[in-house]
Amino acid sequence: MLLAKKIRINVSRQDAETLEFMQAKCRALYNWHLSQLKSGAKWSVYDAKKTLQQSRQIDPELNAVYGKLLQEVFFRLNEAMRGFFRRVKAGETPGFPRYHPRPKFFTLKYPGVYLRVEDQTLILPTGGRGKPKRFPDVRAKLTETPPTPFREVAVTKDAEGHYYATFLSDADESHPQADDGSAIAYDLGIKTLATGYSTTGRFVHVGGFTTYRWYNKQLDRIRALRSHCQKGSRRYRYLTRVYHRVSEQKRRKQRDSLHKASAFLTRQAESAIVLGDLSQQQMVQKSRNVTKRTKGLHRSVQNEWGLYQFVQMVQYKAQRNGKKLYVISERYTSKECSGCGYRQEMPLWKRTYHCPQCGLVMDRDENSARNILARFLARLGPYPERDDVLSTSSGI
Ligand SMILES: [Zn+2]
Repeated sequence: MLLAKKIRINVSRQDAETLEFMQAKCRALYNWHLSQLKSGAKWSVYDAKKTLQQSRQIDPELNAVYGKLLQEVFFRLNEAMRGFFRRVKAGETPGFPRYHPRPKFFTLKYPGVYLRVEDQTLILPTGGRGKPKRFPDVRAKLTETPPTPFREVAVTKDAEGHYYATFLSDADESHPQADDGSAIAYDLGIKTLATGYSTTGRFVHVGGFTTYRWYNKQLDRIRALRSHCQKGSRRYRYLTRVYHRVSEQKRRKQRDSLHKASAFLTRQAESAIVLGDLSQQQMVQKSRNVTKRTKGLHRSVQNEWGLYQFVQMVQYKAQRNGKKLYVISERYTSKECSGCGYRQEMPLWKRTYHCPQCGLVMDRDENSARNILARFLARLGPYPERDDVLSTSSGI
């Protein structure tokens, strides 16, 4: 289990150029190998690595890039290809891995053992033998204290041009909470991010973050202003920069909300947390074939919440707080009456569950949460405790 801490770093102008140089070289190497694959070459990470020597001869500038960063490029490509083949094998039709576009910073991943931190300065090596090297090692000023020991450091740059170092470390040994059989089940949803129902019979509602609405309005405004400018003009470019800055702020705000919500979720008293399997949700499933009715809702879920990211956060925070996390099939949990088991269609826009059989009237999400908990308690199937919720989707 890895924990990540992202820390802003300050670098000199020269060091920023060094980072730009190295990331551009890594990206070019990545894209070049991808282009070979696109034109039908077979992928083998072993063979690809062997070509690095040739690549260095063709482009001697690669020698100025720290070698481990180049190795990482092959690893990343391998991950992308493996993910692609895994999905093909599962009968899906995934898109081929994509090129890394030029305006984006190609993340530089350093293995932790090769890095040193000297009084709040992270030293990122560059490539090349002998002295002087073409680029001296990058000395990045850390604005926070990194966790020690760390396993890996990823260097990124945001839309505003700030650099960050993300330290990945092994989580502290968590203190497992005594399992008293109590559990709380959450329905992850559209209007409220999460609705919980616990074995003690209490409801928990997490959500109601509305700041993104304000951001959306700003973004729409900037776009509208820009549409009146001539493409490529000074004002057009200025507004583009502003647009990027505001969307970056929005993204950060949302992440922050998700962090807070997941922290809240995992701090509840119950010793087990139960989530419905996201892969079965209407809103996730229907991403390819969006109907008029679900379109608005769907967009709000995909863009505004980021449920997958949220589940990841819940996952590692649960672990850190010593809670058990279970992910169970949530098939029909929104369609079934939690009072009598009656089943009816529940399109996404129906926010209240009205049961024609027993007369139950209940909030849609609360009804689902009750069903998820009931199903978990009844153990309607083997639900192994999940370590990695997202990579293994259970079909149905
Ligand atoms: Zn009923």
